[in-house]
Amino acid sequence: MELLKVGSRGPQVELLQLGLERAGYHPGLLDGVFGPATRRSVEAFQRSQGLNPDGIVGPLTWKALDPWLLGYVVHVIKAGDTFSSIAAAHGTTISAIAVANPDADPYNLPIGGALTVPLGFPLVPQTIRFTSTLLDYLVRGLGARYPFLRVRSIGRSVMGRPLTTFSIGRGKTQVFYNAAHHANEWITAPVLMKFLEEYSAAYAGHGQIGDVSAERLYEGITLFITPLVNPDGVDLVTGALAPGSYYYNQARTLSRNYPDIPFPNGWKANINGVDLNLSYPAGWQQAREIKFAQGFTQPGPRDFVGISPLSQPESRAVYTFTRSQDFALTLSYHAQGEIIYWKYLDYLPPRSREIALEMGEVSGYAVEETPPESGNAGYKDWFILTYDRPGYTIEVGRGESPLPLSQFDQIYRDNLGILLIGMTSMLPESMEPIVPISQKKSKPLSSPSMPAGRRPRCLEPPCSPPSALPSSLWRHSKQ
Ligand SMILES: [Zn+2]
Repeated sequence: MELLKVGSRGPQVELLQLGLERAGYHPGLLDGVFGPATRRSVEAFQRSQGLNPDGIVGPLTWKALDPWLLGYVVHVIKAGDTFSSIAAAHGTTISAIAVANPDADPYNLPIGGALTVPLGFPLVPQTIRFTSTLLDYLVRGLGARYPFLRVRSIGRSVMGRPLTTFSIGRGKTQVFYNAAHHANEWITAPVLMKFLEEYSAAYAGHGQIGDVSAERLYEGITLFITPLVNPDGVDLVTGALAPGSYYYNQARTLSRNYPDIPFPNGWKANINGVDLNLSYPAGWQQAREIKFAQGFTQPGPRDFVGISPLSQPESRAVYTFTRSQDFALTLSYHAQGEIIYWKYLDYLPPRSREIALEMGEVSGYAVEETPPESGNAGYKDWFILTYDRPGYTIEVGRGESPLPLSQFDQIYRDNLGILLIGMTSMLPESMEPIVPISQKKSKPLSSPSMPAGRRPRCLEPPCSPPSALPSSLWRHSKQ
């Protein structure tokens, strides 16, 4: 971890401020700026930990913050300890300890043995920018809290970061959710991580997520989640990649090929300047022709397709991983526009349209066909082409990426239903044909609650851009 002190800035400072706040040493706003308030809070924290209170955050202070960034402590069992007394001492619950220590016998705790004790707060933060470092904390922290989670790396990014993939459940049917193919759409990563945490907590507590029994999902489906397909690009956009470092400089140089695109906020590509969602072998040549005609002829912040399909390690890893599994359905999370894209060319995977309409119904998102300018070489396109199964691109939020975290709560609320339908629609008992929406009692499709200015949803394919819209407005629809 970086050495931080007054004057430091960026997502590492946000992480520090988050840890301090959780530990009870309020640093003020979690704004990523190491000012006097953060310094005072660091000094107080250091004193409480018996560290030299110099206000500088080095390895010892980071280590001391671990419990509040990982969300658990390791408790060494003493004579007379019980789950109840340990829970009270750490402000947590007996059941949280029981879940984290499935092999421990509460009536026979071995003195000197170690227990993982989850602390009493949700681990996935919604108030700080997402980075690969934060994901590393979540891997360790969620893994400790919920030992039934499995974590693996399906490959490495250009910069050698693991492409972390979680799985949960023991159902025969496999479902795959991924996020952040595009760097400045990183807000999609915490959406999947929060969902994973809520689902894990619901399963551990024999409860529900949304209105669905977590155990039913767990027994019926194995869910795979790759929250950060493009970790290097995300670190560039969120500021975790230090200005002046080798890869930062490389990206800065590539961005000069496209001076009109803001740097680094306009960066969607991987760190080599290739758009990972224009990298899959599904109409790649057409994508190349279209993007070249638009002027994206060399590596840069977005829309460069690379020198061949799967030229980059990130998309190659997701491709190879998908080939090695048997996914019944996939969701690829992007931002923005509040749209569900469900088609590739004329492919109509069984039930795909019905499921898309259900997702549109619960989220209020529009259900549309991908505009032809961006209708090739994406993960969803390749998945549908290869498997003829339901695959979706979900575009969350409104405005311009990177979307502000102030949208997170709304985005999560809108998408919880989509994330659940991705699984419930694949449960064995759900595989009968879905009752067409038109026959169901539901709110009218032109619901008055729909925000003004939203385009009408595509209900009857073929669906094309309204002719009144200039085509330039559609060019970037597949964000
Ligand atoms: Zn995107």
